This record gives sequence, structure tokens and C-alpha cells, in this order.
Amino acid sequence: MLRLLPCVFVSRLGRRPCGGRASSVKIVLIDFHTHTAASDGALSPRDLVALARERQVGMLAITDHDTVAGYQAVASDDPGGQAQGPQLIAGVEFSCRWSGTTIHILGLGMDCDHPAMREGLDWLHTARIERGRKIAARLEALGFAGALEGALAEAGQSQLGRPHFSAWMVARGHVADHNQAFDKYLGQGKTGDVKAFWPEMAQVVGWIVAGGGVAVIAHPLKYKFTRMKLRRLVVDFMAAGGSAIEIASGYQTADQSEQLRRLATEFSLEVSVGSDYHRDGPYSPQPGVQAPVLEGLSGVWERWCEPAGNPVRRAPR
Ligand code: MN
Ligand code: MN
Ligand code: MN
Repeated sequence: MLRLLPCVFVSRLGRRPCGGRASSVKIVLIDFHTHTAASDGALSPRDLVALARERQVGMLAITDHDTVAGYQAVASDDPGGQAQGPQLIAGVEFSCRWSGTTIHILGLGMDCDHPAMREGLDWLHTARIERGRKIAARLEALGFAGALEGALAEAGQSQLGRPHFSAWMVARGHVADHNQAFDKYLGQGKTGDVKAFWPEMAQVVGWIVAGGGVAVIAHPLKYKFTRMKLRRLVVDFMAAGGSAIEIASGYQTADQSEQLRRLATEFSLEVSVGSDYHRDGPYSPQPGVQAPVLEGLSGVWERWCEPAGNPVRRAPR
């Protein structure tokens, strides 16, 4: 059960003065997991920030897949994003391998230009193009000529991924829609499901931590691991320098949040929350997640939550 945050937290986060009136609690929205058109989201980075502002999100991290281009586009627009809110935090969502599975690790608050981050991002960019070539070769073997050029044209400035292949297939009339493209050709276990190139989890955690950021296990229940395997993931993640998990992600039941809370408590992990917003849709939550009451846990956002005018960053623990 989520309750509202104490006012003192709100006053820092939302920059709303909290003297005078007796109201002790207010709603605070945070979103540390969002996508823009720099990866597979629908909105430009600027439009996403505008939407978050409209929804009164206090702190926002843009966490595009394997790129920080979207974040950097708006960060340079409005350094710190402080003027009209939301407070902008650097972010990325890395895909990586662990124990034979692809999992997602969020990086928050890192220096995107740190050499370790740059090296990692460049490596992934090259790897994505290579993967695109492999997907294209497989699709072409099925008779879909021109898949690579088509997908690259769909991708434009954004990171090449399977959605661009599906968009091309839809545009060319090879399939009826995006779902059919994934069901028949691109989804898990299908011909175009190429994933061998992802870096190891320990590597991506290393890039984030070297860059001074916090590594977060994204949507930990989405992998459908057994309880034992999830704990094993946490142990390996922490050994690599990781320190936080998402306890609320998109639509999740109260039971699931509670399970993740217990996991965080057991391992003394910090917690993060995010919508995983990609676009408007009937099953997609809007940006902004109510900040949970922590009850002994630490929120990653506390690291960047200093009184206005005194932006001290707490050292990673
Ligand atoms: Mn995505
Ligand atoms: Mn993800
Ligand atoms: Mn995501």
C-alpha cells in the first residue's frame, strides 16, 4: 500500500514552499524509467519532459535503451532541468546477459561522458548495428529483401532495434501489424530474435558505477525467475557493484511491489520507481509514479534530493 510522502520531502522535490499550511502530506510523482524517440518511445525528449511537467512529475530520468542521446538533448536545452521542473536525472536502460537470459539494468545519475560510459555506449551502438545485420540476413533468407536498409530508414536517429524491422515489415505490407511481426518473425524464439551480442551484466554495472551512477535492476519480476533465481541475480548484481532495484514498474500489483520491497529489505538495496512509459495506450501507464513511503528502505531519488540552491550529491554507498 502506497502512502503519501511527508511534506519535508515534497518541499525539496517539488520546490513547493511548505511553510504555513498544516498539510503534512502531498502527492509526489517520480519517474526514473521512461523512453523517448531516441530509443523506442513515441515522444521526442522535449515532448516527454513537457508531458512530465504537465503531470507534475517532480523528478524524471529518461532511460532510453542503450543510448543517452535523448537525455542529453534536453539536458543541454535546460541545464539541470531545474527552472520549470521536473528535475532531470541522467539515465539509460542497458540490455545485458545474465545466466543465459537477457535482463535490463538502469543506470541513473551517471556522468554520461565518463570514458567508461562512452566506451560502453559506443560498443553497444556497434553491437546493435551488427545485430541488425544478423536479423536482416535471417529475414532476407525468408524472402524479405531490403530489410536492413528498411529498418535503418525507420530508425533514423534512434538506436536500431526489432521495432524498426517490424515497422518496415508493416509499411511494406509483409505483415498486418506490429504484433504479427513479432509473433511470426521477431519475437522470442522466432527467426529474427537475435540476442547473442549483449554485454554481461557485470560489464554494464561497471560502466554505470565507474561513471558515478547508480545501477538498478529494472522490472525484476518481468523475467519470471523463481524466487531462488531472482535472489541469485541480486547477489551477482551486488557483487558487480549494483545497489538498487525497481519496486514499482508500469502496472504492477500491490503483492508484487510487496515482494520486491521484501527483497530490497533483505539485501539492503535502494529502491527506484518508474512507469516504463513508451507511448500513450490503453495498457500503458502515464509518466509519474507516486513515491512510496520507504519504511526503512532508501529511495535512489534521495541522492539527488537536496535543498534548492545546494545541489550536493550524496556519495554512493
Ligand atoms: Mn522498450
Ligand atoms: Mn526493460
Ligand atoms: Mn524500459
